[in-house]
Amino acid sequence: AEEALRQAQKMEAIGHLTGGIAHDFNNLLTGIVGGLGLLKTRIAEGRVAEVGRYADAAVASARRAAALTHRLLAFARRQPLDPKPVDVNVLVASMEELVRRTVGPGVRMETVLAGDLWLALCDANQLENALLNLAINARDAMPDGGRLTIRTENTLLDGTYAAQAEIAAGPYVTLSVTDTGTGMPPEVVTRAFDPFFTTKPVGEGTGLGLSQLYGFVKQSGGHARIQSELGQGTTVSIYLPRHHGEATDTPITSLATAADTP
Ligand code: ADP
Repeated sequence: AEEALRQAQKMEAIGHLTGGIAHDFNNLLTGIVGGLGLLKTRIAEGRVAEVGRYADAAVASARRAAALTHRLLAFARRQPLDPKPVDVNVLVASMEELVRRTVGPGVRMETVLAGDLWLALCDANQLENALLNLAINARDAMPDGGRLTIRTENTLLDGTYAAQAEIAAGPYVTLSVTDTGTGMPPEVVTRAFDPFFTTKPVGEGTGLGLSQLYGFVKQSGGHARIQSELGQGTTVSIYLPRHHGEATDTPITSLATAADTP
């Protein structure tokens, strides 16, 4: 759990960093849009001599924006996935104390873990991050308290749903987090996985939590989905492919136990 806490702090730092980058990017876009707007006006006015200046300014801004995204991508690539057989129940248990501290005393927490849970194949650290991000979002959605439910189950995705979700039909280990918070209107559900999409005030939300989760889940060959109802609450479910290895494969080893936390 100490490792998870360190990860959480790192993620917060990354959040600030990327939030800053998003802000810079936005400024550059404003420069491009403004430059192009002026360019259009000058053309309409027949003041063609000034056109080049505005075109140059727009190109320079666009170049800087491209450099920024390259930096972001280079950064993202620095964290390669390390897929291993993971006992998601053990992972949840080891994170329980940290999640409890994250959501605070106003939120009642329950975990419903499947007794016969299959092993999942994914990067355990990334899954820890994903769970923590979901807990943070749940907390933010329940400012007046509520209930947080963490659930694990074995799921057989049938062809119809799998085709809809554009993943393979078959066995998945499902980890879902349910809150009794504000819920999301449909237009927020649609965009929630988009990078930098946030409805939170500047400085509070980076809009990266769910997009990071989505990237990780997709790279793992899994699937993520949001079910939400305004005023009722939200469930975010992560489907991870089942590990079909030998029983002798050691499930995740790097996780500290909840007992480590003060
Ligand atoms: P951030 O939390 O920084 O805004 P996320 O990518 O984690 O970024 O979430 C994007 C948006 O999705 C949030 O700003 C919020 O509007 C919505 N959202 C995410 N989780 C929940 C939730 N549990 N309840 C209500 N809205 C949520």
